[in-house]
Amino acid sequence: MTNNNLGLYIHIPFCKKKCNYCDFYSVVPTDSIKKRYIESLCTEIKKWGERTARPIDTMYIGGGTPSLLSHNELALIFGAVRSSFTLLDGAEITVEINPGDNIADFLKGAVALGVNRVSIGVQSCNENELCVLGRRHNTEDAVCAVKAARNAGIKNISADIMIGLPDSNSQTLEQSIDGILALETEHISAYILKVEEGTPFDKMNISVPNDDKTAEQYMQLCNAMRKAGYEHYEISNFAKKGYQSRHNNRYWLQEEYIGIGPSAHSFFDGKRFFYERDINAFIDGAETVFDGFGGDQAEYIMLRLRLNTGLNFKEFEAKFNKSLDARIIDKAKSLEKHGLCRVNDSISLTDKGMLVSNTIISTLLGVIYEDI
Ligand code: SF4
Repeated sequence: MTNNNLGLYIHIPFCKKKCNYCDFYSVVPTDSIKKRYIESLCTEIKKWGERTARPIDTMYIGGGTPSLLSHNELALIFGAVRSSFTLLDGAEITVEINPGDNIADFLKGAVALGVNRVSIGVQSCNENELCVLGRRHNTEDAVCAVKAARNAGIKNISADIMIGLPDSNSQTLEQSIDGILALETEHISAYILKVEEGTPFDKMNISVPNDDKTAEQYMQLCNAMRKAGYEHYEISNFAKKGYQSRHNNRYWLQEEYIGIGPSAHSFFDGKRFFYERDINAFIDGAETVFDGFGGDQAEYIMLRLRLNTGLNFKEFEAKFNKSLDARIIDKAKSLEKHGLCRVNDSISLTDKGMLVSNTIISTLLGVIYEDI
C-alpha cells in the first residue's frame, strides 16, 4: 500500500580517515568546511520543504560519520527539518554512529532531538580484521557503543557486519557472528566485501575468499541469524520481529524519498536524481543530476525480489493493471528446481538464490527485454 509520506535521507560526508574498503563519499572535515556544509545543508533542506508539503515518516542521517557532528550542528539540521517539513509523530529517525568515537554525549543529544534508532558500523568482531579494514575501533568499542545507545534510551539498534574479508574463514566469521549476536541488537545488516576501484584495498595486495568460500560464509551467516531468531527479510538484512528498517524498506517498495547532500540519491515525483560526489559543488549550490524515471515494471520486479516476501502476482497486477508475464513465472519455476527460489502466489528467493540475486534478476528480466 503506497501513501503520500516521504522518506528523508541526509548525508554527512565527513570521516576522520578513510577505511580501506570504503567507496562512500566523505572528506576529512575542517571546522570551516563543517560550518559551511551545515549551512548549505540547512538551506537545501528548506528549499525542499518549500517544494513539497508531503510529511516525513522516516528520516535517516548517514555518512560518512554523522557522530562526528557536534550537538549544535545536529540541532541545526533538526531545526531545519522541523521548520521545513512535518516530521510525523512516530517517524523512524535513524542516525549512523561509529564505535570508537566518544559517542555517549552525542547519543544523549541525538535522542533529545528525536533520534529513535541507531545503526552502528561494527563490521567485524575480530581485532585483526578490524585492523586490516582500517577501522578506528576495536571489538570492545562496539560493545561500549551499544551500551551507550541503550543508556541514551535507544530501543532499536542495528549493527553492520561484513563477510568475505581478507584472510577470513568459517572460524573468523563464527567469532564475528558470536560477537555481533552478543550485542543483542534488534537488526543486523550484512555486506559482502567488494573491492571497489580507487579504494585503498584496490591498491593493496589482499587475499579475499573466492566466490565459493564467500557463498559458504553467506550461508553460515544466514543460518546463524535464523537460529538466533532474526528474520532474513532482505538480501542483506536481518531483523527481530517488528524491527525491519522502515526507511530502507521504502527503497525496495518504491516509496519516494528525498536524499540531501553530496552523493545522496532521491526518488521523487517519479524521477530519480542525485547530488554529485563533491562537497564544494554542493556548498556552491550545484543542482541535482537527473538519473531517469523510476517505478517501472522492471525496477519493481528487481526490487521486490530483494525481499523475502518476493514478487507477489496479485500486487503486481494491482499496480500495473496487467498480469505478470507468464514467461517470468515459467523461468522462475525452472530456477525453483535448483533451490534458488520458491514459486506459489509469488516468486521469492531462497538464501541460496539471494546470494546470486543479480544473476536471477537478470535472467527473469531477460524475458521482458526479449520483446524490446
Ligand atoms: S567510517 Fe564509514 S563512511 Fe567513513 S570511511 Fe569508514 S566505512 Fe567509509
